[in-house]
Amino acid sequence: MHELGITRNIVSIVSEHAKGKKVKRVSLDIGKLSAILPESIRFCFDICSKDTVLENAELRINEIQGIAKCKICSNEFEIEQLFGRCVCGSNDIECINGEEMKIKEMEMI
Ligand SMILES: [Zn+2]
Repeated sequence: MHELGITRNIVSIVSEHAKGKKVKRVSLDIGKLSAILPESIRFCFDICSKDTVLENAELRINEIQGIAKCKICSNEFEIEQLFGRCVCGSNDIECINGEEMKIKEMEMI
């Protein structure tokens, strides 16, 4: 479960920024194509945040829709996986949205 390592990173980055203050809320952007499961992050967050300034913080997860752009006709469309086919018939597409995982914002008490 790679979410454990990811969550540890999130907790350590947020703790560093909090500089000892208690964290009330953390918002994450998780792309649907990132292969990171929000439920797993939630589960790991409870474990990793224990005895840190993030303990009992509210975790908000925004799932980011996968968007691809066709390199042939420049059409942009939603995708559920990293490959797909454009309406023009081309499968020469690039993912332009939905692969990211980032800490969007954090709020301290
Ligand atoms: Zn196309």
